[in-house]
Amino acid sequence: MGMEKEGESTCEPATPVLRISQLDALELDSALEQLLWTQLCHCFQNLRPGLLTPLEPELKALLQLLLWRFTLYPGSATVGQSLLSLRYRNISTSPNLRKSLSHRQKLALLLLTVGPRWLQERSHSLRRCLGLTSGAPLSDGFQKALRNSLAALSGLARLASLVNFLAFLRTGYHPVLAERMVGAQAVFSEPSVTRDVTYQYVNRELLWHGFAEFLIFLLPLINTSKVKASIYSFVLGGDPSGVGGARDKEGAWRECALCGEWPTMPHALGCPHVFCYYCIKSQSIANNCVRCPKCGTEARRLEPAKIETLLRH
Ligand SMILES: [Zn+2]
Ligand SMILES: [Zn+2]
Repeated sequence: MGMEKEGESTCEPATPVLRISQLDALELDSALEQLLWTQLCHCFQNLRPGLLTPLEPELKALLQLLLWRFTLYPGSATVGQSLLSLRYRNISTSPNLRKSLSHRQKLALLLLTVGPRWLQERSHSLRRCLGLTSGAPLSDGFQKALRNSLAALSGLARLASLVNFLAFLRTGYHPVLAERMVGAQAVFSEPSVTRDVTYQYVNRELLWHGFAEFLIFLLPLINTSKVKASIYSFVLGGDPSGVGGARDKEGAWRECALCGEWPTMPHALGCPHVFCYYCIKSQSIANNCVRCPKCGTEARRLEPAKIETLLRH
């Protein structure tokens, strides 16, 4: 009783909840269910494979029951709704009186969400079960009628939820058929709360996301070492005996021009610079026209570096 008093509060005419917020709440709820199910499966992963499969629909229903018991039942809001600062309101009261759902409504909401899903997943085995129990001579016609009526029922349910969704798009209330049947409507949990994430932010996030994806697609296509080498040769004018030429030449054989370390198995391309064998070989595999990153000389042939040749340059 105390709970019902708590949910009761008067306020100025309620701000309508955006359709996108209601759909987001549903998405968040289903993501949470999926997360819990994955966690549960992880707990059993070391046991015999396929242990959970025969009981999967029941276990999922049980998880939903637990979720309902600890979210919607005490708080009148699902997890997704509380994240978006929404909750359910009893539609049978006046719009200014934001009364939370009665226990019966909450229970009905649970049954209407869990029941159809369980029935759908279990329909095959249920049908087989019914077929076995019904008498043998009548079974053929009876089974056919049963199958047809079940198919018609599920088609009807789907049609109803489609019509409901179209009505939701038009009016902005009750995205799920169960909510409409029970008489539950999403409202803001605090009268003055608006959507926390503003559209400006969302748009910016979308833009950055698209840009990042484009970069991830583009970056592997750019041969960075080639770009670096051509910029280097452009800046230095392709002349190794420039300003730092003398100093370069002195230290050239001490470090690999690619990794900057002491060259392992030093190899040369024909310019005064040396390279580790692995550094330059991996470059030449990735890129059939290798240039020296220090001076921009195009590779003529790769050969082991000799100190005398290097000093002669
Ligand atoms: Zn190297
Ligand atoms: Zn070079």
